[in-house]
Amino acid sequence: MPPILARARCTLAWTAVALGCLAAGPAAAQNAYPNHPITLVVPFAAGGPTDVVARSLGAAMSKTLGQSIVIENRTGAGGTLASTHVARAAPDGYTFLIHHNGMATAPALYRKLPYDPLKDFDYVGQVADVPMTLLGRKDLPAADMPAFIKYAREKGDKVNLANAGLGAVSQLCGMLLQEALGTQFTTVPYAGTAPALTALLGGQVDVLCDQTTQTIPHIKAERVKLYGVTTLDRIKALPDAPTLQESGLKGFEVKVWHGVYAPKGTPPEAIAKFNAALRAGLKDPAFRQKMADLGAEIVPESKQTPAGLQTWLQSEVNKWGPIIRKAGVYAD
Ligand code: ASP
Repeated sequence: MPPILARARCTLAWTAVALGCLAAGPAAAQNAYPNHPITLVVPFAAGGPTDVVARSLGAAMSKTLGQSIVIENRTGAGGTLASTHVARAAPDGYTFLIHHNGMATAPALYRKLPYDPLKDFDYVGQVADVPMTLLGRKDLPAADMPAFIKYAREKGDKVNLANAGLGAVSQLCGMLLQEALGTQFTTVPYAGTAPALTALLGGQVDVLCDQTTQTIPHIKAERVKLYGVTTLDRIKALPDAPTLQESGLKGFEVKVWHGVYAPKGTPPEAIAKFNAALRAGLKDPAFRQKMADLGAEIVPESKQTPAGLQTWLQSEVNKWGPIIRKAGVYAD
């Protein structure tokens, strides 16, 4: 084709595209969801285990959504400040919350909770289940779990237990641990288990129960003492670690689950698109590899749905309410 004709065809083509864009562009751009970045609120400190899951998931989901997911760490009151914020946020499809078991334990832990997890949210789906590990500072004079049980019973409230506040899974695990041992430790709350782990590494606190999504690299580098995992069976990511039940705490089990929520009244189309991106993200090879390396297990497809999360949350509220009320741990 003579160069002059090729240039004319190009000009025509660009003119058509430009006209098409002028005619349909603004309306289509306004209608298409999402047309700007989405905020995913994390209830705990940056760098911690919930944050690690959120950031990896957000990166995987943004590939499907074509928009970035901005992580916002809103810490405080064991995750309940973040939940309150999202319950009251505009239900426009641009604010979501990722939370763990704390969504189900908060109603029993807080007498004046400003939201109802079963009424004030729309549900997107579950993400992954994560075991916890019980860790001691490196120089704690108890080499393994049987020695720690003895040490804890002797020292009682001289033992400092770090957690991420009332409503955090580190608090839940610590509460069950103290009950099982018949001891009362001194609790030191942080804005998340990222700063709690820093305190453990620095020797300012003695013990911490925390998800493998943060602890595995520190365990492998032998920067902490590992007393055991909180699942009933040993886990693939730490095959040599005994379970706490193996070491004498029969039936001891805490498994951390994660759900994604939206403010109540979010448009169903936005929930459906965000859920489709969640399900695609959970299939993303890089995300799956990272989760497997950190001991997390992607939930089955039946749980990756709004109904799957809602049913699960209800069952967890029913499960933990009586256990927490029996332990008598709460905030006014
Ligand atoms: N592991 C924390 C908890 O205890 C949360 C976090 O910092 O991600 O709930």
